[in-house]
Amino acid sequence: MNLETILNNTEFTKEELVYLLSLEGQDMQRLLDRALEVKLRELGNGVYLRGLIEFSNSCKKDCLYCGVRCSNKNIPRYTLTDQEVFDCAELAMEMQLGSLAIQSGERSDRVFADKIEYLVSEISRRYNNKLGITLSCGEQSEDVYRRWFNAGAHRYLLRIESSNTELYYKIHPRNQEHSYDVRINGIETLKKVGYQTGSGVMIGLPFQSLEILADDLLFFKNTDLAMVGMGPFIPHDETPLYEYKNELLSDEMRMNLTLKMISCLRLLMPRINMVAATACQTIDKQGREKAILAGANIMMPNLTPLKYRENYLIYPNKQNVKDRPIDAKNSLHLKMEAINHEIKYNEWGDSKAFFDK
Ligand code: SF4
Repeated sequence: MNLETILNNTEFTKEELVYLLSLEGQDMQRLLDRALEVKLRELGNGVYLRGLIEFSNSCKKDCLYCGVRCSNKNIPRYTLTDQEVFDCAELAMEMQLGSLAIQSGERSDRVFADKIEYLVSEISRRYNNKLGITLSCGEQSEDVYRRWFNAGAHRYLLRIESSNTELYYKIHPRNQEHSYDVRINGIETLKKVGYQTGSGVMIGLPFQSLEILADDLLFFKNTDLAMVGMGPFIPHDETPLYEYKNELLSDEMRMNLTLKMISCLRLLMPRINMVAATACQTIDKQGREKAILAGANIMMPNLTPLKYRENYLIYPNKQNVKDRPIDAKNSLHLKMEAINHEIKYNEWGDSKAFFDK
């Protein structure tokens, strides 16, 4: 295969994607540089922020990779009070972040649905829709998705984690509570309701091949998503997948594979929003900057009150667990300047791909 010819394509076969994902050294750098070129041409050098609120670590699910899974009895469970959520929103306004992302463990009871609806509508009302609102609160009924949308949320992230059914059931229990089909239907329902819909996968999972990752990329494209979040898999010692920790690619290889996934997806879907995940920074000190230079355009500074953050560890050693939000923001500003990118304050930073349709 000829690298330069492939890099100038706008459509890619699975074989070409596998080839791109296997690049190393200078060839890999060429892929990353090409993705940056495409991003700058399509979206410019702006980086948009979503102030992250980890609303609750109560979760009814038992995903085999996640430190927040219901079987982990070694973490205290918390839910932010209304006032704590409103304080986070106020902070987001003061810091001019432009958007919030409310993330939570999954619950499907009525109290939870009502609470999220109330919080979203109250934040929209208080700030006159100045703050964009992304939700990542798991699988819900169409009615609940619709209520939250009508309350003012307009983006929703529901990660598939792997689009390969077999691998999906190696990282989730095989039961109705963790159904692959329900997850897929959820993504379609979110699109139907009108959300800018996002999904994502972990990279470097046990049992994951380059072919599976290439299929993930084609899945994102075929599903016509507006946004994607991808980060390296980091094993958590309170989870079943930890037993494979010695069989994983090295941190460096998982990081490089993540960068190649981001770059390939930028070539495949030039105008979607893509997040530079905190997990990148956890296994590489410059991970988020590298992700931005590989084609990502979104960052998520954490606004969760410091006292709760240690208890929302989907993976361990998460960076910025102790950073004050204002310090994190200032540091991001300088880091982006250093790589010729510009943080866009007070902007929602919606997915351009979404509005192209
Ligand atoms: S990944 Fe999400 S749904 Fe699964 S156990 Fe963790 S918090 Fe719950």
